[in-house]
Amino acid sequence: MDQIIIENLQIYAHHGVYREENEKGQNFYINAVLETDTRNAGTLDDLDLSTNYGEVCTFLNHYITGHIYKLIETVAEKTAEAVLLKFPRIRRIILEVRKPEAPIALPFESVSVKITRGWHKVYLSCGSNMGDRKAHLDGAVDALRVDEKCRVLRVSDWIETKPYGGVEQEDFLNGAIALETLYTPEMLLEKIHEIEYAHGRERKIHWGPRTLDLDIILYENCVMCTQELTIPHVDMHNRCFVLEPLMHIAPYERHPLTGQTVRQMYEAVSRREENR
Ligand code: ADP
Ligand code: MG
Repeated sequence: MDQIIIENLQIYAHHGVYREENEKGQNFYINAVLETDTRNAGTLDDLDLSTNYGEVCTFLNHYITGHIYKLIETVAEKTAEAVLLKFPRIRRIILEVRKPEAPIALPFESVSVKITRGWHKVYLSCGSNMGDRKAHLDGAVDALRVDEKCRVLRVSDWIETKPYGGVEQEDFLNGAIALETLYTPEMLLEKIHEIEYAHGRERKIHWGPRTLDLDIILYENCVMCTQELTIPHVDMHNRCFVLEPLMHIAPYERHPLTGQTVRQMYEAVSRREENR
């Protein structure tokens, strides 16, 4: 990805653990690498197709002088997020907050915190087989749309499917959602649980009836397994009701472990079901 680079932007601000720092203030220096596609702007010589680095500097100054935090970790975290929300063409930011006048009673040149934050491409599956199924799925999309840390990119059609996992219950309506998010996988799981509960989701029977189920299927090329979260979704390659709608919006996305495309996984699972 192309980069726009800001080096040592000087900002007089009041962050620090000590009261004197908050009262008197000191110089901070910001380094920022803005990852963005500059090709169109560069080819057409058109600023409207790029991110105006002057505006970014003004914004950084405004944001960093407008708040007071104890930690430069927090300055970096909050500022990176604010920049990503404000400037939609920036995919990722590497942000370094330097504090060369920090109260350290030893000779030193500078201390700094440097972080990388950005938008992550995610695929969710959604399903419902209780109440107004379509309203629950539409409601889930709306809830994601109003969250500033999510940008819904594509939504599949909702398709009718038979229940999975052996529990006798109503048919499902299923779909897939492509989005970009600033959330980590754990934060996104929390977010989708919130949406499920807002739609009256109760967890009684495993694989049982539900007003709304939202699962994280893919989170970029992330591979992880904790007690709460397995990514890619552990059973995605076996579930027609996940793969079929996903195929409509992302046939060529690949499973990061097997390398199979969504289409290949869907074709394999369809063949297995036909042979049954
Ligand atoms: P299921 O979706 O399998 O029918 P639940 O929706 O009740 O079951 O989810 C049970 C738990 O599965 C969640 O509380 C969550 O911690 C865990 N889980 C593990 N991996 C994922 C994932 N990729 N997406 C969503 N939930 C996950
Ligand atoms: Mg679930």
